[in-house]
Amino acid sequence: MPTISEMKALEALTESRRRASLQNDYELTYHSYDGVSYAIYRSKSDANGKTKMAGVHAAVKAVGKKGYRPGKDSRFYLLDQKNFGDQQVVTEAFHFDSQFMHHQWIILGPSSVSGGSGRGLAGGTKGVESVKRIAIHEIAHTLHSHKLGLNDYYPDTQGMKQSAISWPKGKHDDILLVSSYAAAGWKEFVPEVFLGLILGKTYNERIMDLYAQYGGPPVPAVSL
Ligand SMILES: [Zn+2]
Repeated sequence: MPTISEMKALEALTESRRRASLQNDYELTYHSYDGVSYAIYRSKSDANGKTKMAGVHAAVKAVGKKGYRPGKDSRFYLLDQKNFGDQQVVTEAFHFDSQFMHHQWIILGPSSVSGGSGRGLAGGTKGVESVKRIAIHEIAHTLHSHKLGLNDYYPDTQGMKQSAISWPKGKHDDILLVSSYAAAGWKEFVPEVFLGLILGKTYNERIMDLYAQYGGPPVPAVSL
C-alpha cells in the first residue's frame, strides 16, 4: 500500500500537469451521453481538435452502449505539442483528485490521431477511429482504477497486493494475440482487452481469466 506521502507526491505531479495545461488557451464545451455530462477542453492551437472531438464522442457512445456512463467529473483535454514547449504532451488518464476522490481526466496528445504507440489495438488506425480506440483504452484505465481502488491500483513495490498471481513475464503468445502493448504489464493488458471486447473481439479462456484476476471492468454479454 502506498504511503500517504507517496500518494501526495503522485497527486502533486498530476496537479502540476493540470496547472501547466490550464495555462493554455482552451475552448471548453459540455456534452452529454444519456443525460450524463462530460467536458471537452480543446486547445485552440490543436489542428486535430475536430477529429479528436469526433473520436471522443464515438468512444463515449461505444462504451455507453455497453452500459458505462461518463463518471463524475469526466474531462477530455485535446492538446497538441505547440503550446507546451519542452513539456512533452502524452496521452494519459488521471483517475483520482487531490482528495483521492474519483474523477476521469483524459489527455489526448498528438499521437492519438495516428495510432498512438502503434503497439496497441489503435495501431494502424488514423483520425477519428484512432482517437476513438485510444479514448476507450484511456476510459478503461479509469474504470479499472476505480474498480480496484486507490491502494490496489497503486500497489507498493512488492507488486500487486490483491493478486496471488504475478504478471507473466517473457513470451506469452496468447497475450500477444491481444496486442504487443497488452504484454507490457497488467495495467496495459486490462485496457487493451477492454478495448478489444468493446470492438467485438473475443479472447480465449486464459486471457479472460487473467482479465478477471486483474480486476478488469465487466463488459456486458462477456462472462468473466
Ligand atoms: Zn494505457
